[in-house]
Amino acid sequence: MSDKHVIAYVGLGIMGRPAASHLLRAGHELRVYARRPEAMEPLAELGATPCKSAAEAAEGARFAFTNVSDTPDVEEVVLGPGGYAESLAAGSVVVDMSTIAPQAARDIAAALAAKDVAFIDAPVSGGQAGAEAGTLAFMCGGAEEAFAAASPLFEIMGSSHVLVGGSGAGQVAKCVNQILIGATVDAVAESFKMARRLGVEPAKVREAIAGGFAGSKVLEVHAKRIIEDDYVPGFKARLHLKDIKIAIEAARGCGVEVPSAEEFRARLEKVIGQGHGEDDSSVAAKALDD
Ligand code: NAP
Repeated sequence: MSDKHVIAYVGLGIMGRPAASHLLRAGHELRVYARRPEAMEPLAELGATPCKSAAEAAEGARFAFTNVSDTPDVEEVVLGPGGYAESLAAGSVVVDMSTIAPQAARDIAAALAAKDVAFIDAPVSGGQAGAEAGTLAFMCGGAEEAFAAASPLFEIMGSSHVLVGGSGAGQVAKCVNQILIGATVDAVAESFKMARRLGVEPAKVREAIAGGFAGSKVLEVHAKRIIEDDYVPGFKARLHLKDIKIAIEAARGCGVEVPSAEEFRARLEKVIGQGHGEDDSSVAAKALDD
């Protein structure tokens, strides 16, 4: 069997467009769909086939990717009218790179299983830079066989891919990831504000601690944005709010308290209410502004 596949891809935003372009450059045949036809143009210029629906994009596809915003969007693209499920053949695999609720991933997997189509929840970390560089970290849930089949594609778009467990397990890992990032952004905002008040330059503090135990991607990327007060996304605040709500709901569902996630959610809601929803999520730091 050829190692080059027909691949459908829907969700050509900050993450999806660069990720999909790597599949194309690796020699796969890419069929794309977007609600706004102009969103397909950059990939069409690289050789992708623009389609009029997700169902059309999935015709003849072995793999069908989603990288859309939220749970209802994945449900619509995969299971809705004109969705992937209308045309995917038995034995094909849907891979969802979006961040959605773990239970929704399990439900979509069950609906597709009735058609003998596999589903891998494969949310990512690494941001726009990781999507562009092909260094995303995939956290996956689903069946081992489907994960193994999709692994060569994860290798093209990322630098790590781990099967965490069955359906939804990838999204649980993503909940953990988002809680950790939110809490760290909050801590950066508070501690750097303190440093400034104490007459010390935050940029120098960042430089000094970067090589120690507090060194992290959040310190590298988000702290820089906070220090420079430059919140070009990145990862939009409204999407991180969506993710932290998913994580809080998952925690409540199993009786675990996540106060750090609640605090980050409150800060995001405050700054989004001030018009920062399309800014990078590190704009949550502005919730501390006097
Ligand atoms: P984005 O730039 O807003 O892109 C989302 C894309 O999905 C847009 O092109 C949008 O099309 C399309 N879309 C949304 N709903 C759709 C629907 N129902 N039918 C068809 N197309 C639809 O968002 P993003 O930053 O790429 O994020 C995508 C996913 O990755 C999200 O789940 C996000 O939480 C996750 N994620 C993002 C990052 C990051 O750093 N950005 C990192 C990790 C994970 P329109 O333009 O027509 O709205």
